[in-house]
Amino acid sequence: MFYNWSMNGINKLRIFSQHMHLEPAEETPPQLQRLAPCGQVVTGRETAVSQPDPLIYHAKMPGGKTIPLLKTLLSSACERNCNYCPFRAGRNFRRATFKPEEMAKTFMDLYRAGIAEGLFLSSGIIGGGVKTQDKLIETAGILRHKHQFRGYLHLKIMPGAEKAQVERAMQLANRLSVNLEAPNDRRLAALAPMKQFIAELVRPLQWIEEIRQSKPAHGGWNGRWPSTTTQFVVGAAGESDLELLSTAEYLYKHVRLARAYFMAFSPIHDTPLENYPAENPLRQNRLYQASFLFRDYGFDLEEMPFTEAGNLPLDTDPKLAWAQVALRDDPVEVNRAKREELLRIPGIGPKGAATILAARRRGTLRQVRDLQVIGVHTRRLKPFILLDGKRPTYQLPLF
Ligand code: SF4
Repeated sequence: MFYNWSMNGINKLRIFSQHMHLEPAEETPPQLQRLAPCGQVVTGRETAVSQPDPLIYHAKMPGGKTIPLLKTLLSSACERNCNYCPFRAGRNFRRATFKPEEMAKTFMDLYRAGIAEGLFLSSGIIGGGVKTQDKLIETAGILRHKHQFRGYLHLKIMPGAEKAQVERAMQLANRLSVNLEAPNDRRLAALAPMKQFIAELVRPLQWIEEIRQSKPAHGGWNGRWPSTTTQFVVGAAGESDLELLSTAEYLYKHVRLARAYFMAFSPIHDTPLENYPAENPLRQNRLYQASFLFRDYGFDLEEMPFTEAGNLPLDTDPKLAWAQVALRDDPVEVNRAKREELLRIPGIGPKGAATILAARRRGTLRQVRDLQVIGVHTRRLKPFILLDGKRPTYQLPLF
């Protein structure tokens, strides 16, 4: 299959693709459909043998739908020198830059060919954050106004962007992200010496929330203001889980952050941190679990099972660790518990809690089997519950 699209644009996208997996966006494991070196689309069996660069990702949208997302940059040139970043100034590799019109056309070629339905657009910084943000906004404006693109658009807010630019980006995007990278200014100095934690990174997230609050009726291009996300690099600045989660909790509570991403540090050749050890990916997973507990499950940061050093145990998930202390001698009666109490039981999430509440209106839940019949996962909850006043029998783990 051959499409008559801008080969120049496709080739530039391929130059960026090598490092784009380092930039989290929505839920994006690599997709099988990719672009082969010639710009042709390859799928299925062909993909397995040609091993092209990943450009398009399956991304789960905020509403739950999965779409093919082009995740890319306007420019891989950057004048800043973040110590962990493959695009940092002075690093020797091939770079490329799109003009806004060219990026918009390249994306629309992919969109019309059915290859990409949404765009995640970031950029290295050239000529300052304001100028770079202008180019991102211009690209988004061309997509929305000239090409009438009505699909998903995630824009990055550049360090140094101005409040008026943030508001313009809010008028065009479905989601905006500002990567804090570190939990506070001291840790950021070790990762990104040219970035200012409050003035350049936290402030734009606060502006977004201020605008959402002060102009609730105005909304964005589709009548809704965009959601916000951030990213932390984990394990390269000596930060503790407590520091990371304290900042994430502040953002969830005070600027209505939709999602904090945690990326386990992995050293990159020819950067100041190239000899720094990679972080255990399990730590990243534990941070996600804990952040979801206080974002979605009603837990407070103080309830997290931190060690004295302020880290989460790696060998147990934080909800289970909490329950082993709090619920083993004080089990929850499933037939009387409120929703927020059900959510604290290991193995029960928002869907399981809703299922139990609905089933209780039909009768009493007396056995583990009653929970299994309604679709509740029971592997982990038995030590922590009562069913009609009785503890279910369960096998203690041998080790
Ligand atoms: S500003 Fe962004 S692109 Fe530039 S070096 Fe830092 S993280 Fe990389």
